[in-house]
Amino acid sequence: MTISSALAEIQSNIARAAGDDGRLSSDVTLIAVSKKQPDDRIDAALQAGLRIFGENRVQEAQSRWQHRRATHKDLTLHLIGPLQTNKAADAVALFDVIETVDREKLAASLAKEMQKQGRQLDCFVQVNTGDEDQKAGITPDQAVEFVGTCRATYGLNVTGLMCIPPVDEEPAMHFALLKTLAAAAGVSKLSMGMSGDYDTAIRFGATHVRVGSSLFGARPVEA
Ligand SMILES: *Cc1c(COP(=O)(O)O)cnc(C)c1O
Repeated sequence: MTISSALAEIQSNIARAAGDDGRLSSDVTLIAVSKKQPDDRIDAALQAGLRIFGENRVQEAQSRWQHRRATHKDLTLHLIGPLQTNKAADAVALFDVIETVDREKLAASLAKEMQKQGRQLDCFVQVNTGDEDQKAGITPDQAVEFVGTCRATYGLNVTGLMCIPPVDEEPAMHFALLKTLAAAAGVSKLSMGMSGDYDTAIRFGATHVRVGSSLFGARPVEA
């Protein structure tokens, strides 16, 4: 399948799911997750009109997007992977949205870099809705207070919450939890849903879906 036909199919699924939730497709932002994808697919995605992309590693994103910024001024880049504080400067310089703010030390580093670079990025707080040891994200019971700290202590522009449900569980309850936490924290955006479950996520209120493989095709396996 070509990227433009996959995109058409995804857009119609988004419209249907948004309609089921009493919303418009324009209420849902599709983030094209371009990590690990080869250049020809990236260029096909740009050709198809996509401008909002998600990446999970800072260095890989720099090599894919820094030069394309010059020819595509209207790109919006979301960081959707864990961020180490020593990469905060590079992340603030490259990305437009940081979706993975999940601890105070990182909030402090991001705030300092945004100040230094004169760039105010939108941020999402990542919530570890499944309380998984190996997964990044603040625990659900600390999420509301942490959003407040990010705003009040660090001046971060937190606009939403993000989650990655456990692979072996029904995602719906995680989506519902994220929505409840967002309402309690006073943020309106919800980044949830990937290739396998973005339609479900939209029915639970997702405003941002992060779709990789069903748009670009399977990611090439690393050598
Ligand atoms: C890779 C990734 C995605 C996209 O996954 P697909 O199943 O390929 O759609 C979404 N969100 C995050 C955080 C990811 O790392």
